[in-house]
This record gives sequence, structure tokens and C-alpha cells, in this order.
Amino acid sequence: MKVDRRGFLKTLSLLGATVPVTMKQGRVAASEAATRQNNPDGDKAKDRTTGLRIESVETFTRGPVSIVRVRTEDGAEGYGQIAPFNADISATVLHRQIAPSFLGRNPDDLDVLVDRCIEANYKFPWSYVCRAIAGVDTAIWDLRGKREGKSVSELLGGKLRAIPAYGSSMRRDIKPAEEAERLARLRDTKGFRAFKIRIGKVCGHDQDEWPSRTEELVPAVRKAIGNGVSLLVDGNSCYTPRKAIEVGKLLEGNAVCHFEEPCPYWELEWTAEVVAALNVPVAGGEQDNDLAQWRRMIRMRAVDIVQPDICYVGGMTRALRVAAMAAEAGLPCVPHSANLSLVTVFTLHMLAAVPNAGPHVEFSIEPTSWTNDMYQPALEVRDGTVAVPQGPGWGVTINPAWLAAAQPQVSE
Ligand SMILES: [Mg+2]
Repeated sequence: MKVDRRGFLKTLSLLGATVPVTMKQGRVAASEAATRQNNPDGDKAKDRTTGLRIESVETFTRGPVSIVRVRTEDGAEGYGQIAPFNADISATVLHRQIAPSFLGRNPDDLDVLVDRCIEANYKFPWSYVCRAIAGVDTAIWDLRGKREGKSVSELLGGKLRAIPAYGSSMRRDIKPAEEAERLARLRDTKGFRAFKIRIGKVCGHDQDEWPSRTEELVPAVRKAIGNGVSLLVDGNSCYTPRKAIEVGKLLEGNAVCHFEEPCPYWELEWTAEVVAALNVPVAGGEQDNDLAQWRRMIRMRAVDIVQPDICYVGGMTRALRVAAMAAEAGLPCVPHSANLSLVTVFTLHMLAAVPNAGPHVEFSIEPTSWTNDMYQPALEVRDGTVAVPQGPGWGVTINPAWLAAAQPQVSE
């Protein structure tokens, strides 16, 4: 039989085509093609699943953030959150590239499902993929907790407790005297016993926000808050190793206990050089979402303190793996949680449970209107500590009015 090359190629292209995800009345139906692409053994694996199955994955996007709701076929549900900022893009990725790996699956297989998502998206490493996975992962942790009547920290073997917070400044536009004054005030009004300040310029090529700001800021803050309060600093990828070591000596002279992201975070060898040269512990990893990269960072001692961000790294499941790698190497874990969305709630539960939890939870001191009415009860600093929310799952309730005002999408 004569092969019709044209017809053969046309058939091939049709088989390989990705059918666009269809949107009907605000609902996203995960296309059969997307399911096949992401779950090569989709239907067969579905049939093997004998437990509860995930029936729908919804996103509620509003402003910079997106809440995720996962429902199982018995009507149980859990809430999670995609990493803030460009969450509308992450929500699109979630429905197109992540939800198909979860729909029809048993939420108890979370570890396997998360890994399958990574493999299904191996051509898209990893930022938006991990931000989207985090939304589904954290919703499933909430669902598991609610099903068992336990908080997530209790599921992880932790205890509900109050965790000391460090007041985290996000500002570089603030003058040293003004920053020193506001931190001393927060020490007195909220009882903070630790603060983090920003030095240098973001990805600053050794430049400061303005000349000598760092050299004035660090001693001014140390003097204002007193020696009994811990001082942490964040370089946000500013320095070359030579300059980072020079700045590090200034930090050591002011009893700084944590030098975060001194060098461009992707330059592991640079940061390792700084770690080797300084006594002040070097922290990092908030941007890192590749677990193999984490393994390398820990092995080569590119950091002394690991800082996975639960929402950037792909959820609680993957953040716990980073913490476990660090524990094996004897390193403490102080997750990155730089805003008061659910990421700080997730982080409190994690810190209450992992054996190598560092001494503080990061707690933003900047007002953010977009987190104000997302969930209840709001987190509060009392006597310098924040309580891990009590109750099943994450221990917080998403405000129905907030959800009603958000842009909904459903994969089912
Ligand atoms: Mg940082």
C-alpha cells in the first residue's frame, strides 16, 4: 500500500495537537488533550484510584493573589493559595498545566501527584509551575486536616504554639533615622525581639540605594533597638563576593545574626565564598524552587540558614523536603514569608512542626490592603509572638465576601 506522506503527517499533527482549554460561563474544562499530555496514563490511573477523588480545583483571583479551593467527590473541601503577584498568570497555568494532574486523583497521593506535576511540566521550569502547584498542594493540606479534625501542624507532628516573630521591613526608600525610630517603636508597642532591614540595592551590582545608606542604617538601627533585640539584614542579590564580605564585616561589628541573599541568588559559588569568609550566618533560598538545586546549595554550603518560600517552592510538600535536606545537614530553616497573605499562616504551621525550625517567623511590618480581609482570624503579634492558628486545616476561614469579589475559574 502506498503511503500518503501528506495524510500521514496530518494525522500525526492532529494526534499531537493540544486542544485549547475551553472556557464556558467562567468555567474551565480541562481538555482531554491536556489531560493526556499531563497524565500519560490518565484514565488507567484513575481507575486504579479506589479512595476519594479530587472532583474540582477552583481559583479565586483578586488583585495580586489567588485562593485555591479543592473539592473531593464526597463534598469535602480545602483552601490554599497561589503565591502572590502575577497570580492571574499562575492561575492560568494552574488550570492549563497543573489541575489535569490532580483531577480524578486521590489527595492522599499528594507526594506522587506533586512529583508528577513537575515531570509533566519539565519543559517549563519552574516558577509559575511551582506557584500554581503550591495553590493545589496547600488546599489539599487544608482538606486533609479538616478530614482528620487536626491542624496542619498537628498532622505534621507539631504542636500549636506561639512562635517568636521578626518584624520584617520591606523598605529601602526609608532614611536610616526613620527606620531606626519605627523599629524601636514596634519593639515597644508589639514586643518584637527581632527585626530584619534591607541593605544595598535589589540586584544592585554593589550599589546602595543612595551612597552610605547601609553604613548609616545598620549602626543606627542597632543603637535604637538595643543589644537585646536580634538584627537580620537582607541584601536581595546586591553584591559581588568582595563587596558582600566587606559589608559582612560591618554587619559582624553590629551583631547582625542573619545576612540574607548577599549575592545574586543564582551565583551559588559566590554565596559559598561569602559563607566561608564570614562568621555572620548567611541565609538564602527564597527564590529557589528546584529541589536538585537545593540539594546542591546545601551540599556545597552556599547557605547557613535555608529559607524556602512555601508558595514559591511548590507548596508545603516540597518545602518540607527542603527542610528535611537542611535538617540532615544540620542547618536551620527559616522560611520566607514576606507578606500577610496565607503564606505566613502556612509558615507558622511548618515552623511548629519541623525539628530544625529557626527561631523566628518572618512577619511583614508593612501595611498591605490586599491581605486585609482575605481570611479570619487575622494574624496578630502579641508580646513579639504570633500564635499558630487553631482549628482543623490551616485554622483560618476565607472570607466569603472576599471570594465573592474575586474572579472565579474552575477545572473539573
Ligand atoms: Mg529576602
